[in-house]
Amino acid sequence: MIQRRITRQIKVGGVPVGGAAAISVQSMTNTPTRDVRATVAQIRRLEAAGCEIVRVAVPDAASAQAISSIKARVRIPVVADVHFDHRLAIAAARAGADGLRINPGNIGGSRKVKAVVDCARACGIPIRIGVNSGSLEKDLLKKYNGATPEGMVASALRHVELLRGLDFHDVKVSLKASDVQRTVAAYRLLAAATDLPVHLGVTEAGTLFSGLVKSALGIGMLLAEGIGDTLRVSLTRDPVEEVRAGFEILAALDIRRRGPEIIACPTCGRTRIDLFGIVERVEKALAGSAAPIRIAVMGCVVNGPGEAREADVGIAGGGRRGRPLPERPGDPEGSRREARGGPAPGGRRAPKKSPA
Ligand code: SF4
Repeated sequence: MIQRRITRQIKVGGVPVGGAAAISVQSMTNTPTRDVRATVAQIRRLEAAGCEIVRVAVPDAASAQAISSIKARVRIPVVADVHFDHRLAIAAARAGADGLRINPGNIGGSRKVKAVVDCARACGIPIRIGVNSGSLEKDLLKKYNGATPEGMVASALRHVELLRGLDFHDVKVSLKASDVQRTVAAYRLLAAATDLPVHLGVTEAGTLFSGLVKSALGIGMLLAEGIGDTLRVSLTRDPVEEVRAGFEILAALDIRRRGPEIIACPTCGRTRIDLFGIVERVEKALAGSAAPIRIAVMGCVVNGPGEAREADVGIAGGGRRGRPLPERPGDPEGSRREARGGPAPGGRRAPKKSPA
């Protein structure tokens, strides 16, 4: 049982982050934000996938202005991601952004941070302090001999203090490095030093495969330790995949589930059906479903009945076809429908142990 770290709660639009709130799943659009039509279309796809907070890049004034039109056509909170120019953060807040993400290390000094804070307070929106190992302040790089976890946390705390000094407390923090070890070490240090809610992520995690592995490890390790209030899985892909991955990580840790869970065996020399094809078909058929059901798709009867007993629906491969398996223990239909472990391909009894 994971003991969740207790953090202060903030609200991003209508979504609570921190405290006892469910760990929310976020993503970021990759359309030009000023292209309202394309951005709204992408956010709607993200909403359908379960995304709960979306971030949009604000590299120019047209993007900041576009937020008001985007907001009018989507349901989930929209956070403006701003670098370098504090005026864009102010414009985005005034256009209706539900939150701001700034990297104080590159926003241009305390006077400009104060201007952003004053605007966020007036608009009633929170700020995410997003520290990135690639843009740490020079003095901290020198003091900590590079972008170390200690240096990243020092940067975050410096800005938290700056905001506290301005009596602004609606803050969450992210500390992103592109490697898992530094990311995990930095978040651990941060969690020990403050009760602020944290946004988890491994930045520039990479292509689909390496990004998934890095994020599952980094985010998963922290979640298992009770650290993390909201998360984004960064992938060089359609952002919808980020949302799916976020829920998969939460589900794997039994923290939160959205949609069906498909359990499939890895296949082995006993497999005589097109298991990959069947799994793909099941996955496609259930895409977009929010039903919390568990489906077992197994290559043969060695593990099929056992897995099916734990699932709502099960299929086990036979000679050239799959067999439906009982839905629940004690299912009156079960004894009739259960695959009976008949001869494995080649005429021999299926062995008891499976490599699956
Ligand atoms: Fe799949 Fe295990 Fe059967 Fe092999 S023995 S086909 S891995 S269930």
